[in-house]
Amino acid sequence: MKEKRIKMMRCPNYHYSLREKCPECGLATSSPHPKYSPEDKYGEYRRKMLYGE
Ligand SMILES: [Zn+2]
Repeated sequence: MKEKRIKMMRCPNYHYSLREKCPECGLATSSPHPKYSPEDKYGEYRRKMLYGE
């Protein structure tokens, strides 16, 4: 299956963009919540690892 979700990225000036570079200020963007995402496709797998299910 193809990944259909759009990854929202954010630059240090809090501009949201879909690109790796902010179109407004030209800074590199990054994922606003790199450590936790409710849509993390590996989240379920990770929980199983953590809780030993
Ligand atoms: Zn920006």
